[in-house]
Amino acid sequence: MNSRRQFIKKTLVGAAAATAVSQAIAVPGSRKGVKPIVISTWDFGVAANKAAWEVLKDNGRSLDAVEQGVKVAEADLSNPTVGKGGYPDRDGHVTLDACIMDELGNCGSVAALEHIAHPISVARLVMEKTPHVMLVGEGALQFAMENGFERENLLIPSSEKAWQEWLKEKKYKPIMNIENKSFNTERLPGNQYNHDTIGMLALDAAGNLSGACTTSGMAFKMRGRVGDSPIIGAGLYIDNEVGGATSTGVGEEVIRTVGSFLVVELMRQGYSPEAACKEAVARIVKKKPDTAREIQVGFLALNKKGEYGSYALQSGFTYAVCDAQKQDLVIKGKHIF
Ligand code: ASP
Repeated sequence: MNSRRQFIKKTLVGAAAATAVSQAIAVPGSRKGVKPIVISTWDFGVAANKAAWEVLKDNGRSLDAVEQGVKVAEADLSNPTVGKGGYPDRDGHVTLDACIMDELGNCGSVAALEHIAHPISVARLVMEKTPHVMLVGEGALQFAMENGFERENLLIPSSEKAWQEWLKEKKYKPIMNIENKSFNTERLPGNQYNHDTIGMLALDAAGNLSGACTTSGMAFKMRGRVGDSPIIGAGLYIDNEVGGATSTGVGEEVIRTVGSFLVVELMRQGYSPEAACKEAVARIVKKKPDTAREIQVGFLALNKKGEYGSYALQSGFTYAVCDAQKQDLVIKGKHIF
């Protein structure tokens, strides 16, 4: 190709990219706001939202709602991506990541926590009882046990079996949308690895926002790997003046773009929740176009008015919505590719 043609081609590609970004900005406002309301990632958010709703419907605090809500996913042994029953790392250790944030800007987080079935409650205690935001590994476990959490084996037989299968090939390739029942009807064989997270955002009757995010991270990940989910600003961010956001998918790309903070800041600038999520995934595409085609990342956002929206890289991302009208709504997220 001669240099003039190359130049024209590059210019056209550049113009197309600019259009994609300006379209992202132009997406109109999302759904009509209501409160109280709770939203969370993936189909499994429905059951979690119901537990959160029990708190919200009686004028409870959004912080209590999100903790109670995500604990349902953490306790669900059929879910290989969150809490007890989560797939282990490549060495067979189940290591959990979680964080929580309230309407006052308080936040707490644990990462690479082993043997504790409800990392979200440990994260809340880090927030409430320590001068710190984040505890990791052995120190997080010690703190949990000092605070009365039971030490247990989180590697259940089905997850151990999947890990043993995985060890045969040790193939390190993410499966998109593993958590979405319409895509996967049973637990995956162990020669594949997967990831997914529950991120939950709630607005209570008093108009206050909180969020929680909890995961076992990427299945068969490297020992010590921590994703976006326990990182305040990446996997979760709340600003009670504006709104909240959470993410799911390949955490490395979310950390690189400080995704949830970005979504909230875009909402502060006037973007609707959906438009903010769309711009955040567009940034991932812009930074790593080739990687972005291969992976899933989804953002979910709720603003101060109770309006919500989402956007993902790929099709297949779903989220659950629960308010006074409907407790089991599942919405298919819009997507770039
Ligand atoms: N974001 C999580 C992580 O990277 C996993 C996921 O949501 O799929 O650890």
